[in-house]
Amino acid sequence: MSRASTPLMQQYREIKDRHQDAILFFRMGDFYEMFYEDAETASRALGLTLTSRNNGGATEVPLAGVPVKAAGEYLRRLVQQGFRVAICEQTEDPKHAKGIVRREVIETITPGAAFADDLLDGSRNNYLCAVHSAGDRTGIAAADLSTGEFRLIVCHTQDVDAVMARLTPREILTRRDSGSAVRRLPDDGALVTEREAWEFDAELASSEIARQFGIASIEGLGIGEGDMPAVAAAGALIRYMRELQPGGVPHLSRPVVERPGGSMPLDEMTRRNLELIESLRGGESGGTLLSVLDRTLTPMGSRLLRQWILTPLTEKTAIDARLDCVELFARDPIGREAVRDALDGVRDIERLGSKAAAGRGTPRDLRALGDSVGRLPALHDALAKLAGPNGIEGGPLGPLMQKWDGCAEIAADITTAIVERPPIAMGEESCIREGVDSSLDEWRSLRDGGKDAIAKIQLEERTRTGINSLKVGYNRVFGYFIEVTNSNSHLVPADYQRRQTLTGAERYVTPALKEHEEKVLNAAERIEQRERELFEALRRKVGLQIRRLQCAAQITAELDVLASLAEVAEREGYTRPSVTSGFDLKIAAGRHPVVERMMPREKFIPNDIRLPENARMIILTGPNMSGKSTILRQTGLIVLMAQIGSFVPAASAEIGIVDRLFTRVGASDNLVRGQSTFMVEMSETSAILHTATEKSLVLLDEIGRGTSTYDGVSIAWSVSEYLHDHVKCKTVFATHYHELTQLPDELVSACNYSVEVKEVGEEVLFLHRLVAGGADRSYGIEVGRLAGLPPVVLERARKLLALFEGEEIVSALGGTGKKGSRVSAQGSGDQLTLFGSAPNPLVEDLKKMEPEKMTPIEALALLDRLVSRARQG
Ligand code: ADP
Ligand code: MG
Repeated sequence: MSRASTPLMQQYREIKDRHQDAILFFRMGDFYEMFYEDAETASRALGLTLTSRNNGGATEVPLAGVPVKAAGEYLRRLVQQGFRVAICEQTEDPKHAKGIVRREVIETITPGAAFADDLLDGSRNNYLCAVHSAGDRTGIAAADLSTGEFRLIVCHTQDVDAVMARLTPREILTRRDSGSAVRRLPDDGALVTEREAWEFDAELASSEIARQFGIASIEGLGIGEGDMPAVAAAGALIRYMRELQPGGVPHLSRPVVERPGGSMPLDEMTRRNLELIESLRGGESGGTLLSVLDRTLTPMGSRLLRQWILTPLTEKTAIDARLDCVELFARDPIGREAVRDALDGVRDIERLGSKAAAGRGTPRDLRALGDSVGRLPALHDALAKLAGPNGIEGGPLGPLMQKWDGCAEIAADITTAIVERPPIAMGEESCIREGVDSSLDEWRSLRDGGKDAIAKIQLEERTRTGINSLKVGYNRVFGYFIEVTNSNSHLVPADYQRRQTLTGAERYVTPALKEHEEKVLNAAERIEQRERELFEALRRKVGLQIRRLQCAAQITAELDVLASLAEVAEREGYTRPSVTSGFDLKIAAGRHPVVERMMPREKFIPNDIRLPENARMIILTGPNMSGKSTILRQTGLIVLMAQIGSFVPAASAEIGIVDRLFTRVGASDNLVRGQSTFMVEMSETSAILHTATEKSLVLLDEIGRGTSTYDGVSIAWSVSEYLHDHVKCKTVFATHYHELTQLPDELVSACNYSVEVKEVGEEVLFLHRLVAGGADRSYGIEVGRLAGLPPVVLERARKLLALFEGEEIVSALGGTGKKGSRVSAQGSGDQLTLFGSAPNPLVEDLKKMEPEKMTPIEALALLDRLVSRARQG
């Protein structure tokens, strides 16, 4: 079978051979056609009809096509499903082509390399990452093609997951032979693209990077010896981007270099458990720290705030610098309002600028860029007023504003050339203003004069023929014509040439009419061509200013975030924390920033948390629903907020900067990963014990719950001991295991706190108030009552409880090692808990299974696992 028996299919084959791993959109007139396997893949993925095309001989080629006009939507769906799509255009005018039209792939679109608005989310970056591990250091190069942002990150290899969780790249490049560099992908499943090992060569990469930025050596970018793993990754990244974008990536900004220690790595579990940017219930909208803090007005600002939340700082001076700025904005509500007024209406300068630099972007995009940049002077004025007599330079905004560039002439260039409301596409409507280009104006007056002339002709012909209903009209097929109704056809002069017969009328042309028509059409064509030239020249000119635009966008983003943080601080009654390089953490009247918003004002009960060096571990007990988890998380959130430079929901807060923040919440099971809940819980606990340092803050919520009670208490106990004796970090351990209230007897720097409840008759009142000392009972039955258990059941439970208490059938911590025996010797009030909360983990797990969603094989594997767990006890 000859697969390429027509010249067209030959051309297709040649191009397809160079783009094996992509679906090839092969432009043919008004359609992008796909052939062979691409057609089959796309028809499956998009639900397109698969047809076939005769290939010259006897063979039929599978074929599927999408109209060019609707291609954006199909592209979006393919890319979202993780496909690469190579766009092959006709690169010459078919009218002038001899033989087959020349075609070329002009770009390849992948999840990590997208420009189009409908492939992007304005409030988050779209990163493409390359990862290169070199022993205990790993380099990550991250680029957002849509904004031009470029980062070189060197981290401890153990922190790769945390960095990746923060970036949530859409696509990851790894070395074909590395295999293990990215062990676990972020949950939303980035596309992994393997590249050849040689592409990760640091030396080659250095010259690649130098070439990209037109400099002699990468040292000029502040890159040093220690950054080499990231440089190696960047080499592969840049090479790949150039492959996808044959036109180059001129807007890639100079890299920001991040080294270990500069910021706090947040692992995925901590990010999720604290509900920083997505809520545990799934979805990104409400109920997150981001949703509370985000009052930004620009897309750049909202992207930056997201980055800040995911990258808390660890250096006091850097944190204070941000806090100073927030304070400046917070102190002057009127000044802040003026700044925010100026920010309002600033569109995505970063992405619009990148589009221009990459030779994309419609007239409407360019005008939006011009209008946005045009607001910068007003922003600067507002800032100057806010800063007061010492000027911007003298105040906290000084360092940020040093690089300020209002880009005034860029805005002027655009707004003087482009009309106020330009069309999306060139053509029909004009996009260049009057007075910009004299030849354009001439053609326009000719065209418009031509129209006047037509009206004049109509009048003349009416007078000449005496036909008052005579009309001069236009259609695409016949051009200009004179229409005369049949009742007047006897009056038609001899020089009229008949062109078209309608029911009831005839259409004619005259030589004079044809002459005008020529002029008008000619003019229209020239106008369109000239407008395109002028527009493209302007876009190029603006695109060349991309560095300045990026700088302006960055400063604007930062101002937006700072003002937003101040806005929230004032509205929500936050205060400025005092961050120190010391150890102590002291929060007075702290609140949970998200939970407090879900209840009426003043309803949330503030609590104090103190973790000084000599009482650095809190064992937090209290019945279910009393507020343990809330206190735990609010502690983490307040520390995190302080370290991103935000004010905090507390009456006052002293924050000894933490190098890491770990949160493990036992209740949030992660069945998605297919590991048993308890296994996940333990592997995460293990990761914490291995990586936490003295400067870390560890928040544990119900660790050990996923196994039998005795196991659970034992593990919780020894984990606490280890954190206290070896790691020596600040720890809050919320637990319903009352046995753990014995820990402080043994560990000098641990202390008991509990959440107060009040008993009024048979009722319990949750006061949500933290008090010193451990809880004495679990109130499980009262909680059951609140939850609506029938009175009979409650009554029976009370009787049983009394019975068990009397018989002491449960002995605390029986036989779990040396410490356990000590506890059990003391333990007496602890027994109820053991009774009240010993759910069978197997049964608990079974409850979560969804057999209707399993394949037979999965069901069998599950059964096998359950049986072996049951046998192990
Ligand atoms: P626990 O972890 O002890 O079971 P949670 O922290 O989950 O309890 O809190 C249960 C509920 O109690 C929360 O959903 C919230 O509505 C309420 N709550 C918790 N803390 C407070 C507080 N400080 N003030 C007011 N309500 C609170
Ligand atoms: Mg809880």
